[in-house]
Amino acid sequence: MNTVPSVAAPATLERINVMKPWLGEEEAQAIVEVVASGWVAQGPRTAAFEAAFAKHQGVAHAVATSSCTTALHLALLVAGVKAGDDVLVPSFSFIATANAPTYVGAHPVFVDVEAGTGNVSVETLERGLTVATSAVIVVDQGGMPVDLSPIRRWCDSHGLKLIEDAACAAGSTYHGEPVGRGADVSAWSFHPRKLLTTGEGGMLSTNNAAWAQRARKLREHAMGVSAAERHTALVAPAESYAEIGYNFRMTDLQAAMGLVQLGKLDAMVARRRELVGKYRVAMENIDGLELVADPDYGTSNFQSCWIRVEPGYPLDREGVLAHLAKRGISARRGIMAAHLQPAYAHIRAGELPVTEALARDTLILPLYHQLSDTDQQRVIDALANPKE
Ligand SMILES: *Cc1c(COP(=O)(O)O)cnc(C)c1O
Repeated sequence: MNTVPSVAAPATLERINVMKPWLGEEEAQAIVEVVASGWVAQGPRTAAFEAAFAKHQGVAHAVATSSCTTALHLALLVAGVKAGDDVLVPSFSFIATANAPTYVGAHPVFVDVEAGTGNVSVETLERGLTVATSAVIVVDQGGMPVDLSPIRRWCDSHGLKLIEDAACAAGSTYHGEPVGRGADVSAWSFHPRKLLTTGEGGMLSTNNAAWAQRARKLREHAMGVSAAERHTALVAPAESYAEIGYNFRMTDLQAAMGLVQLGKLDAMVARRRELVGKYRVAMENIDGLELVADPDYGTSNFQSCWIRVEPGYPLDREGVLAHLAKRGISARRGIMAAHLQPAYAHIRAGELPVTEALARDTLILPLYHQLSDTDQQRVIDALANPKE
C-alpha cells in the first residue's frame, strides 16, 4: 500500500498514513472458506451480509452492490428520477454524489453546506430548488450525520424523493439511531477509505419493498430469474429481461469479508472516537486549528476527522500538509468541491461560499484503528510546533 511520499520522510521516521483498514486473520479465513466452497460470485454470503447489514442499520431491506457509486445509481432509478430532472446535491462531497444523477440523465444542482457539519440544510437546499427538481441527495459527510428530520419534512412538502449518500457513515447515529433509515433510500460504501471495507463494495438500503426488489433485479441485468434460482434448479427456468439492467453485483468473496468487518464496526467506531477525543484535547491548546465536532442531534463515526486551518495559525492548509509531510505524516486535503472540477464546468452553480472555504481550508488528520498513541502524539506535536 505504501507509496513513496513526494517529500521524503527522514529515514528514522516511519510513515503515518491518513487511513488504514483494520483487517486480520478472520477476514483472510472467511475468504479461504468461500474459495473452498466453490461459489465465489454473488450467492449465499451476499444474502447473509445483506440480512446482517439491514439488521445492524435497522432498515427493512439491504441490497449489496459493487460500490456506493452503483448503489447511488440504482437509488436514483428506483426513486424514479428521470432524464431532464434536477437533483439537489451538495458540491462539498466526493465526485460520485454529483455523478449519480448524471448517469440517469438528470442534472445535479449544487447547493451549499453548513460550516459546522459540512452538510446541507433546509436553508441551503431551498436556494437550489427549481420547478424541475424531483429529488435531493443528502450526504453524511465524512461520517458527520446530516440533520435529516427537517429535510424530510421539507422534501415531503415539495413532493421530492430523499436519497441519503451514507457512503462514509456506517456506525454514525442520528437521534440515537443508525443514520440512513429516515431517507427513502440510502447508499453505503465499503471502499477501504471508509470504516467497514470489502475491498470494493456498496449497499443500497430502503424500507420500500418494491424498490428493494427492483434494485435487486437491476443489479443483475434486470434478469427475470435470479442467479440463485438458476443455480438451484437442474433445468433453470427460462429468463426474461423486461428492461435494461446493469451488472452491479457484489461477490461472495467480498460479502464474506463484509460479514467479519460488520462484526468489528462498533469497536472501530469506539476506537476512532477515543482517538478523536485526544485530538480534541490537543487542539484546544493550539490557536487557529478547529476540529470538526459532533452536532447536538447525533454522533459521527469520524470516517474523516478534519480540521479547519484558520487565519490565526501560522501556516495555511497547503503549508500544514507540507509541514506534516516533512515529518513523515500523510494528511489529506479535505473534502472536494465538485462544482470547481472541470467535469462540472458546464453546470452553473450559484454562490457556494461555505463549500469553497471548507474545500480550501480543511485537512483530514491520520486516524485509523491501529494508530498508536506514540504516532498520534507525533501528529499532535507536529501541529503544535508549526515553525520547527
Ligand atoms: C466514498 C464515497 C462515495 C463513493 O463510494 P464508492 O464505494 O467508492 O463508489 C460516494 N459518496 C461519498 C460521500 C463518498 O465519500
